[in-house]
Amino acid sequence: MKIKNINGTSQTTCVCGSWLKHWEKFSGQTATYCPVTGCLKKDLVGAHVQKANGSDDKWYIYPLCNAHNQSTGVLEVSDSYKLVSANKKETCEK
Ligand SMILES: [Zn+2]
Ligand SMILES: [Zn+2]
Repeated sequence: MKIKNINGTSQTTCVCGSWLKHWEKFSGQTATYCPVTGCLKKDLVGAHVQKANGSDDKWYIYPLCNAHNQSTGVLEVSDSYKLVSANKKETCEK
């Protein structure tokens, strides 16, 4: 799938402690490496992303390495990780 990183979102983290923990909690998954094609770095953060295709402009959390969390433009990622809503009202602060 294709996603794009949302830059400049230094949004304070949620009650989960970090956005990566937020992602782990609501995806039920554990990220071991950056899912961007050809990357595989392990310094992961919970990045704010949007789907690059279609009309869905909601914000999601997705694990990306530090370098890709700084990137702009569309990223091709493997489908092995789930997108988790970044909306606290729908997740941890429900
Ligand atoms: Zn949370
Ligand atoms: Zn990466």
